[in-house]
Amino acid sequence: MSQSDSTQELLPIADLALPIDAEPPKSRRIYCNRDLRLDQVELVGFDMDYTLAIYNQDEMDRLSIEATAKKMVERGYPEVLLHMPYTTHFPIRGLLVDKRLGNILKTDRYRYAKKAFHGTRELTSEERKRHYAGKRVRPGTKRYHSIDTLYGLSEVVVFSATVDALERPGEKLDYGQLFEDVRTCIDEAHRDGTIKGEIARDLPRYVDRDPDLPATLHKLRSSGKKLFLLTNSEPEYTETMMRYLVDGGLPEYRSWQSYFDVVIAEARKPKFFSNGDPFEEVGSDAKVEELERGSVYRGGNLADFMRMLGVRGDRVLYVGDHIFGDVLRAKKESAWRTLMIIQEMTEELDAMERYVDEIDRLHRLETRRYDLLDGLRDRQSLLKSLDRKLEGDAMDATERVEVEAARLRLRRAVERIRSQVRGIEAEYGELEEKLEHAYHPFWGSPFKAESELSSFGEQVERYACLYTDRVTNLLRYSANHYFRGPRHRMAHE
Ligand SMILES: [Mg+2]
Repeated sequence: MSQSDSTQELLPIADLALPIDAEPPKSRRIYCNRDLRLDQVELVGFDMDYTLAIYNQDEMDRLSIEATAKKMVERGYPEVLLHMPYTTHFPIRGLLVDKRLGNILKTDRYRYAKKAFHGTRELTSEERKRHYAGKRVRPGTKRYHSIDTLYGLSEVVVFSATVDALERPGEKLDYGQLFEDVRTCIDEAHRDGTIKGEIARDLPRYVDRDPDLPATLHKLRSSGKKLFLLTNSEPEYTETMMRYLVDGGLPEYRSWQSYFDVVIAEARKPKFFSNGDPFEEVGSDAKVEELERGSVYRGGNLADFMRMLGVRGDRVLYVGDHIFGDVLRAKKESAWRTLMIIQEMTEELDAMERYVDEIDRLHRLETRRYDLLDGLRDRQSLLKSLDRKLEGDAMDATERVEVEAARLRLRRAVERIRSQVRGIEAEYGELEEKLEHAYHPFWGSPFKAESELSSFGEQVERYACLYTDRVTNLLRYSANHYFRGPRHRMAHE
């Protein structure tokens, strides 16, 4: 077998031992919002951080929180920040920071605040209503900052821990300034290499290496697809990380680079999708006319990329984790199809599986409550008509006794139904809280806000053709799989 970089190495399929299940278990499934035929995809692209490289979120948060707190103290913040308590799993993706009031919000698809915390204390529903009832929250304005990436989670951890640590009763902090300082310090820690340097020094601690990754990439290549890497990370860090992730995985591949036909680092997404920056080859000053296998490029732009590769936009599948940087921009600026990696799915599916009976019970309680309320309204209107009859109609004694008895029976029935409804509502409330807590102890499911989609859930549904919790779930599907989205039905169908 040729060891050259330019040939498509083929393993006998039996070497890939994993059978293709008719349907993988829920936790390994790829979920589909819009039909996608994998056999029509010619080019599969991957983001690196949080897509191919799955970070250990707890360790990552700890690392960036400690680096950030140190930089905050250097900027003149009190030293208590070096020892402040914090909860790494406090935030989820899709939250908004209200820089005016120092609150963290979760919004539903219509951008109404459904849950709010100040520091790490949940606002009571009165407090929340006082600030946000009837008002749509407008992300993208000066007042609100959205947390779209898993990197962004540590901004919220530091911000809310600092609010807890510095706020005194009756004293207001300049939350806007505080949040900007937190962000500046985190950015600095990323830029000056404090964070990435530490990760590179101890990869096993910070990165969950998935042993199925080489086989997954190989499987796509074996079916004739070309692969590319498109990451914002710098070339050196990309090299270190990719080596760790796939080198030595399959003997037929000499190095991580042999899996990819094109490698682009420091791509500056989301600008990559709309700007006109030229491609540069790492280690060469020559003008880039073609993207060659075996070289590493930086910068570049979508239009040149598509022209040089000569592939139709809808024949490209891009796999990434960032809703704006990877998925939304790819969707808006190109015809690229998208597979979004959502690490949070692992816990979500796990909770759904563990609480399947409770979820079922919740739905049944909801239906039962609506039925009872219908019955209640019927009896109440009947009761009113009997009241009117007793007041106005002339009737003989026997008839009056009968009507009064009927009214009494109805009143009792109304009372009975009311108490049943109260019982159901109490049980519903308890169950709902238990389930919310199972999804996430502070915020509930990232995809839902009460019975609505959350704004994050809505973005996933709108922009990601497919979504799943890890790249290697692709290994469970044929490289020619036809992913089918839910058939849309209108209310009358
Ligand atoms: Mg990423």
